Order: sequence, then C-alpha cells, then structure tokens
Amino acid sequence: MTTEASQTVEPTVTQITSDSHEAVYRVHAPEVGLTGFIALHSTCRGPAAGGLRMRPYASEDEALTDVLRLSEGMSYKNAAADLPLGGGKAVIIGDPATRKTPALLKSFARAIEGLGGRYWTAEDMGMSPSDMAVLRGETQYVAGLSDGAFASGDPSPVTARGIFNAIRIGARHRFGSEDLAGRRVAVQGLGNVGWNLCGLLAEAGASLIVTDVEPARVARTVTNFGAEAVASDAIYGAEADIFAPCAIGAILNARTIPQLKVKLVAGGANNQLETAADAALLQARGILYAPDYVANGGGIINVASEILRIHNTGPWVAGRLEALVDTMDGLLARAAREGRSPALIADAMMAERLLPIAAE
Ligand code: NAD
Repeated sequence: MTTEASQTVEPTVTQITSDSHEAVYRVHAPEVGLTGFIALHSTCRGPAAGGLRMRPYASEDEALTDVLRLSEGMSYKNAAADLPLGGGKAVIIGDPATRKTPALLKSFARAIEGLGGRYWTAEDMGMSPSDMAVLRGETQYVAGLSDGAFASGDPSPVTARGIFNAIRIGARHRFGSEDLAGRRVAVQGLGNVGWNLCGLLAEAGASLIVTDVEPARVARTVTNFGAEAVASDAIYGAEADIFAPCAIGAILNARTIPQLKVKLVAGGANNQLETAADAALLQARGILYAPDYVANGGGIINVASEILRIHNTGPWVAGRLEALVDTMDGLLARAAREGRSPALIADAMMAERLLPIAAE
C-alpha cells in the first residue's frame, strides 16, 4: 500500500448554530464522498453517546433533522438507564451498500476524534461491527467492538432481558401479577432482540404469537418455542394479553391501535409511537404502554459498560438493569396515580434528569 493510499483525509468540521442542542457539526470531505453530521444534544450527564447511522437521505436537511431527533432521543434513553452519559448521534449521507468505504469511515472517525471524547459512537443502521473496527483505527471514542479489553459485543441479549423485565413490571401494573405463565404474548419481529425475548418468554411459560417478514425466522421460533405464526398485519389484532413490538418504529398509530386486543404494550423497537397523539389513543383504550426507550435501555447499558471501561461487566450490567426496572415501576405507578400516559410521564421524568445540577 502506498503512503498516499493509506493516508486519512481530514474532514472539514463546521459548527452549526442550534437552539435545541448543545453542539451540532457538519462533517465534509468531498474527496472520499463524505457528508454527515454529529449532534450533541446534552452532555450534562456525561459524554454524549449514541450510534452512527448511514442512510441515503434525500437531502442534507433530512439528515440534519434525523440527527437532531435521534440525539435528543439518546439523551432521554441514557437518562432513563441512569447512565453517566449524555445524548448524541451521528449520520452519514449515502447508501451504505454502495457508498461506504474505509476511506469515508476513517475520515468521519477523524471528526469524532477531534471532539476529544465529548461524543462516543457505536453501531446503528447501515453500520456493522467491522465498520466499528475501521473507525477504531482513527478514534478511541467508539464502542460496540467485537474484541478488545472492554468489548461489549452483541447487546441484543441484554436488550431482550430488559424488555422481559419491562413486560413483567407492566404485567404487575396491568394484571396484578408479574407471573407470565399462561399469558399470551404477541411478538412482532424475530431478529436479534425478538428471538432472545421469545426464549425468555417461553421459559417463563408464556405462549407466543409471532410474526416476521422473514419466513425462516418465523419457522425457527415455531420449532424452538412452539409459537403460533401469523401474517405480518395480523399481529395487531392477535388474541393476546401483551404486544411486544421488536421490529420497526411507528407501528403504534391511528390504523393499528384500534385493532389491538391486548391490555399491555411493551417491546424493544425504537420510536414505536407514530405521533404523540398515539400515546393518548392507547390510554383512551385502556392499553398500558411501557415507554420504548425505557423498555429497551438494556442495549445502551451494555454499550455503556465499554465506554465506561467497566471491569466486572456481569454484576454491573445486572445492577443497571435492576435500576431500569425501578424506573419503569416508578413511572408506571406515577402514570396510574395521575391518570396520564406513561409516555408523557417518562418524558417529564427524563427531562428532570437532564437538568444541569444547580451549583451549590
Ligand atoms: P433485527 O434487524 O435483528 O430484527 C428485526 C426483525 O424485524 C427482522 O427479523 C426483520 O425481518 C423483522 N421485521 C422488519 N419489518 C417487519 C415487519 N413489518 N413485520 C414483522 N417483522 C418485521 O433488529 P434487532 O436488533 O432485533 O432490533 C429490533 C428493534 O429493536 C429495532 O427497532 C431496534 O432499533 C431496536 N433496538 C435494538 C437493540 C439491540 O440491542 N439490538 C437495542 C435497542 C433497540
């Protein structure tokens, strides 16, 4: 390899003014086809942490809107897990299948390194563990590595454990008992998270109704856990007690909520509510909603163990998951007392956790 070929292109990093976020940067290196953004929503709890996403956004405006929204969401998710981390996110514009090159990733990594640890990145849509290893060559501020001293590996089993706990707490609030034996749970999405969750639910004696757009994933869940399979859209009207969305976002909306027969929704997918009004729709139907970013906080807890360089990961992760249970329990109790949607209560509670600690 020539020296020239192995040289990393330094990107131009320009700060963009923002009223809502602590700092937002545009990262540009036309030589390697790179245009992206890094947004730090809040660092009042600690360094901003959140994944790097690559998508063929139609415009820079669309990418900027996404990074602002996602980084704010990370502030709330990290606060819900009570981690000493703030909220951040990064996006790169382009189709990862055709535009993602080591040169582009390395150049972006130089921008992350230049922030000196105010932002920690990890894998998100369009990225893989091997891409994280490429970034690691240029910046120390990357987590989600598959090897190394503090590598946290696949977060999905921890995410699934957190969702399982959320289902149990939700069941206690909605049905008066955490016991899931004999409960019918409808699971949408049988990928990394859904599959692990199905294992835990089956072990607890729940019966499963499942769906996925990939027939092989459905087949293995039917074979391994005796699940009943239904077509994609039939999951909303499934005769079940609990619905666990573990596939995509925006699936709780004006079209799907009227179909639900369940009394509790608790799952791992991000951004399950299509609009804020959908929280009220669920509430009006007497369906208890376990806020997604609290239920799925196990993933970020797992990643945080790497960022925070935790030595004895097992007990630390277990302790954080217990704290997440307390948070969910507390917010569901408050929602019941105040007769308001848990989604609104969660946002209010996390906004308080994001207030800078007042100087003595
Ligand atoms: P995954 O890609 O491994 O699995 C998603 C599954 O959903 C796939 O099997 C896919 O075929 C299926 N799917 C897609 N569209 C569907 C549809 N319309 N109906 C039914 N099935 C559909 O992803 P994952 O890692 O299991 O994550 C699942 C969700 O949980 C995502 O929303 C993700 O953002 C969120 N999440 C994941 C983690 C984690 O640790 N992996 C942490 C927090 C949040």
